[in-house]
Amino acid sequence: MNDLAERLKAGERRALAKAITLVESTRADHREQADALLTGLMPATGRALRLGISGVPGVGKSTFIEAFGLLLLSSGHRVAVLAIDPSSALSGGAILGDKTRMEKLSMDPRAFIRPSPSSGTLGGVAEKTREALLLCEAAGFDVVIVETVGVGQSETAVAGMTDLYLLLQLPNAGDDLQAIKKGVMELADLVVINKADLDTAAATRAQAQITSALRLLPSHAKTVQRVLQVSALKADGIAPLWAAITDLHQAREADGSWAARRREQALAWMWERIQAGLRQAFIAHPVVRERLDATTTAVRDGRTPPSTAARQLLAAFQAGPFA
Ligand code: GDP
Repeated sequence: MNDLAERLKAGERRALAKAITLVESTRADHREQADALLTGLMPATGRALRLGISGVPGVGKSTFIEAFGLLLLSSGHRVAVLAIDPSSALSGGAILGDKTRMEKLSMDPRAFIRPSPSSGTLGGVAEKTREALLLCEAAGFDVVIVETVGVGQSETAVAGMTDLYLLLQLPNAGDDLQAIKKGVMELADLVVINKADLDTAAATRAQAQITSALRLLPSHAKTVQRVLQVSALKADGIAPLWAAITDLHQAREADGSWAARRREQALAWMWERIQAGLRQAFIAHPVVRERLDATTTAVRDGRTPPSTAARQLLAAFQAGPFA
C-alpha cells in the first residue's frame, strides 16, 4: 500500500489507475485499504483546479475537452478527466464511454482519462468519482475535469464536487430555455456556446438570450460570470475561455469564496455519506426488516399515516437490534 502511494505521488499513471480501481471496489477489505490510502494521501490533495463540464449528448463535450486539454498541456499543465455517466447506474450502458474519445489527449503521458464507474447508484458513482478526484490531485494533476451528460441529477453532483461548473450549450434558443427550466443554468459558473462555427449569428443570438435570461434568475442564484462562444472543432475561443476561468479563480480566491465552496462541499459530502450509511443500516436492521413490508403496505393502503409509520420504524431502529 505504501508502495502504491509512493508511486502514485510520483505521478505514475498506472499506480493512479490501480488506486482508482481500489476505491471503486465494493469488497470490504478493499474499502479498508482504500480508506487508509486516501487518508495517507490527503496532505497531497487539494491543489488542482476542479472543473465540472456538462451538456447534452452531441453538444461536443469530448471534442471540447480534447481541444481544451491539449491547450492546457501545451501551457505546462497536467490534466485528468473523470466521467460520471448516469446511464451506468441504470444499464451499465454508456452515453459517455462508448466511442474512442479524446484521442490525442488520451495518448499523452501528461494526461489521464478515466471512464465512469460502470455500476452502482448515481450517489455511489459520484462518491467514487470524488475519491478518484482526490487521487488525481495526489498524483500531481493540476487540472481535474469531471464530465457528465445533461440528463438529470448528475449535473448537481458534478457542480457539488468542482470549483467551477461549465455548461456547454448548442447555438439554438430552445435548448437554453430547457436548461433554465431545469435549474441547471443556475448551477453554471460559465456558459459555453459550442459549435459557434456552424452559425455565428445564431451563436451570438444565443449568447445574448442566455445572458439576459440569466439576469432574470432569482437573486440567490449563483451569479454566472460569463457566457462565451467557442468552436471546439476548430479550437477557436478556447484560450479566451481559459482566461475567463483563471480570472474567476483569482477573483474568488481573493474574496474567499473559492475556499468556502470547498469547505462546504467537503462537509456536504460527509453528511451525504452519513445519510447513505444510516439508510443502509436502517434497512438492514432486523426489526425494521421484519416490519418494513407490513408497514409499507399499510401506508400504501392508507391505513397508517406516513409520518406515523416512519416514527414507529425509527423508534424500532433506535431501540437497538433486539428491541
Ligand atoms: P459529446 O457527445 O457531447 O461528447 O459530443 P462530441 O464531442 O462527440 O461531438 C458530437 C459531434 O459534434 C461530433 O461529430 C463532433 O465532431 C461535432 N462537434 C463538436 N464540436 C464541434 C464544433 O465546435 N463545431 C462543429 N461544427 N462540430 C462540432
